[in-house]
Amino acid sequence: MPRIHQLPPLVVSKIAAGEVIERPASVVKELLENAVDAGSRRIDVEIEQGGAELIRVVDDGCGIDADDLPLAFASHATSKLQTADDLFRIGTLGFRGEALNSVGGVAQVALQSRPPEQGCGAQITCHGGELGPVRPWNGSPGTRVEVRHLFFNTPVRRKFLRTHATEFGHISEAFTRVALAHARPAFDATPGAKPAKGLHLTLRHNNKLVYEVPASMALLDRIGVFFGREVSQSLYAIQARRGDAALTGYVADPSCERGTTKMQYLFLNGRWIRDRSVGHALQEAYRGLLMTGRYAVAFLFLDLPPDQVDVNVHPTKAEVRFRDSQSLHHLVFTTVRDRLRAENLTARLQVPSTIRPDGEIVPDRAPLFDRPEPLPLSSEPWALTPDAPPHPTLPFAPPASAPAPLPPVVAHAPPVSDAHQPPPLPVLPSLPASNKVIQLYDAYLVMETEKGMLVIDQHALHERILFEQLKARLRNGTLESQRLLIPEPVDLTAEQAARTLEAREELAELGLGVDDFGGGTVLVTSYPSLLSRRSPATILKAVVDHLVSQDRPPSREVLFNDLLSLMACHAAVRAGDRLTPEQIAALIEQRHLVDDTHHCPHGRPTALLFSKHDLDRQFRRI
Ligand code: ADP
Ligand code: MG
Repeated sequence: MPRIHQLPPLVVSKIAAGEVIERPASVVKELLENAVDAGSRRIDVEIEQGGAELIRVVDDGCGIDADDLPLAFASHATSKLQTADDLFRIGTLGFRGEALNSVGGVAQVALQSRPPEQGCGAQITCHGGELGPVRPWNGSPGTRVEVRHLFFNTPVRRKFLRTHATEFGHISEAFTRVALAHARPAFDATPGAKPAKGLHLTLRHNNKLVYEVPASMALLDRIGVFFGREVSQSLYAIQARRGDAALTGYVADPSCERGTTKMQYLFLNGRWIRDRSVGHALQEAYRGLLMTGRYAVAFLFLDLPPDQVDVNVHPTKAEVRFRDSQSLHHLVFTTVRDRLRAENLTARLQVPSTIRPDGEIVPDRAPLFDRPEPLPLSSEPWALTPDAPPHPTLPFAPPASAPAPLPPVVAHAPPVSDAHQPPPLPVLPSLPASNKVIQLYDAYLVMETEKGMLVIDQHALHERILFEQLKARLRNGTLESQRLLIPEPVDLTAEQAARTLEAREELAELGLGVDDFGGGTVLVTSYPSLLSRRSPATILKAVVDHLVSQDRPPSREVLFNDLLSLMACHAAVRAGDRLTPEQIAALIEQRHLVDDTHHCPHGRPTALLFSKHDLDRQFRRI
């Protein structure tokens, strides 16, 4: 029988190192954080061979007392924490006292340091956990740490290292995070005071300077250095406060979207972190402006009193626990959403070429329409002619005051055999100047407005209108559902069935009734009337796909939004549906009734505006 024994300290530190030191970039991160905690104004990082051979970090911070040098490599040895209570008011990046111990356990480290107030410094080495003697060192004030041959004594780990370029990429990312977190503050606290300086940082790889970020370089310019002008020039500044929490930073125009969340930087009290809830709030704020699967670019800086957050929940402190996660979610969501709304964002169209009089198409260096005008805000009246009479009998009444009954034909559409037959739109009593709207390719509506020529995607617009109306109906509990005489069994995986049944109440509110049949089978008992052209199984599967694709059960709001957009998409007219003049007019008339007519619920633009000014200019009239 195997006997229990206490592991020797060397083995313990190797195990701990496994958690903290995953690759060269982890070492760089820890050393940078130590240098920041030491109050440095300048940090120089030198890397050789992707960090596998050498990582050197030199700072001008407070230094380490000669007597403390051996302790710096001890496990759980730190100068940043005294009592357990301090854990809940952490003001430094480090506090676990494990980084140097871990690095020292898996590399050959030389630590040289001199506190500025002392005439001479001292040095020590730690090779695979073995400490050398403390010797005098005659260097400049600050600390210099050299890490050579990382994982020299853990060959398996070393084998896991990727190419130098890849490892350097990770290092570069760690460096970027520190450089962004410690830029000169955009707004100086006391007016008239000397402007606060940021951190001066350099990064070299194989003796080549890769980045140099001077202390005076502001955040926006730093973003430009690391991500290019394409990003830094499409940012909108944000600044908000809620109680003790402050949020500053930048969010990018939706046109700057990415395929991953990697460019969503979040910093909490100077520390880069990941946070699902904040990420979710950000993504929600862009709802309707980005296609599914596309992510916003953002640089968010949260400042909270240290006792509002527990940073001691993750070995590398990349995740934290907020006391009041909900109010942070709200802060981020409302701040970003309001900022984007203030920009009145619309799709930006760039026409790549011009047709010359001789018929030849020439690429245009300057975009034909550099920036289409913002569409009129939804609050503005949006009729075909400015003095068009109001239509009190309009079947789609404004949702805010009195929830509109849905156009009856759409709401009660019986199953239609020909799926391509467009659901009829309501007929309007009278039509002003509708000859100014034409349908092209059975997909687009082109109309004249005071501001210019508007091209509308008929499906996207109708979908948006239906979506807003469905939302209003849901709020008022008037969403209709169709009961199935014989409940339809749908076979799902165990996880899918569990997720579906968890969301049973919300689904019922949307008119989708589900019951447990056991063994992964779910019974559909009713479904939303608007979706009557789809089979109950198809509806349920679409819902299930959505539920399971989320990491965690979606919030009620997200679930409702997604399912309503599914319904709206299904019920709306499609590209390829020829519309009657009455239907066209009805669509145009509804346009001002909805909150955000610029984008369909899936994020595609619903309309593009070619301003009159641009048309005149392109035809050389002005
Ligand atoms: P932690 O940062 O969690 O305290 P570390 O193992 O990273 O633990 O460092 C141990 C201690 O060594 C720190 O608490 C600090 O006192 C000292 N130290 C490490 N690096 C530096 C540095 N660059 N400048 C000054 N002191 C340092
Ligand atoms: Mg540390």
